[in-house]
Amino acid sequence: MRKPIIAGNWKMNKLAGDGARFVLNVREQLPEADKVEAVVCAPHIHLPLLTEAARDFQLGIGAQNMHFEDSGAFTGEVSPEMLKDILVDYVVIGHSERREMFGETDDSVNEKVKAAFKHEITPIVCVGETLEQRENNETFPFVEQQVKAGLAGLTEEQAKQVVIAYEPIWAIGTGKTATSEEANDVCAHIRQVLRDTFSGDVADAVRIQYGGSVKPANIDELLSQSDIDGALVGGASLEEESFVKLVEAGA
Ligand code: 13P
Repeated sequence: MRKPIIAGNWKMNKLAGDGARFVLNVREQLPEADKVEAVVCAPHIHLPLLTEAARDFQLGIGAQNMHFEDSGAFTGEVSPEMLKDILVDYVVIGHSERREMFGETDDSVNEKVKAAFKHEITPIVCVGETLEQRENNETFPFVEQQVKAGLAGLTEEQAKQVVIAYEPIWAIGTGKTATSEEANDVCAHIRQVLRDTFSGDVADAVRIQYGGSVKPANIDELLSQSDIDGALVGGASLEEESFVKLVEAGA
């Protein structure tokens, strides 16, 4: 059985005090960690405060991006070693906004995924098609090559620990959710790709989240699907009550 993982992606929102207050307020309301994993992925600058506030509670803290090198002349970047040093547990890699606006490629995603494992940070690897690709029936092959390229070179043990977030780009921040069947079909395909590329054990172990306009009103239906093991949530994760409800839905 795969443990559901519900992650909030705050994107470029909240000031430090608001972020810290959020964690202080929700940390005692979350369900037991043996039922569901809860994660908040915040802007880099808030992370030290948040890991401190979440320490000893059932809430993981994640970054939204990182560089793949440990250190060096990379002005403006944050390294996996720096994230680990402040006890960050997760990192979102290859979000479509980073692919579209900041030049993230399958190759850089793969470098970052490998770097995350080097520092024992769990990567949440995002994949997903555009509306045009969906309309041209290119969803399966496109997502398949994103998964294969992103996870290339991992050992079976590493691959089992990856979290994959399937986020159709046309459903992000649009209020348009994929139907639970549409979402599940792609998640099932991703699992098949994992089976073919790695093994049945890897396919059975990997948690696949759905992301794109998830909210308390639609999460139950999404999580009831066979191959959806959690959610990566933008807008609806910004508010405390809504975040707690989303995590409770996973428990
Ligand atoms: P929304 O939940 O705001 O649609 O964002 C989804 C997302 O991009 C999460 O990473």
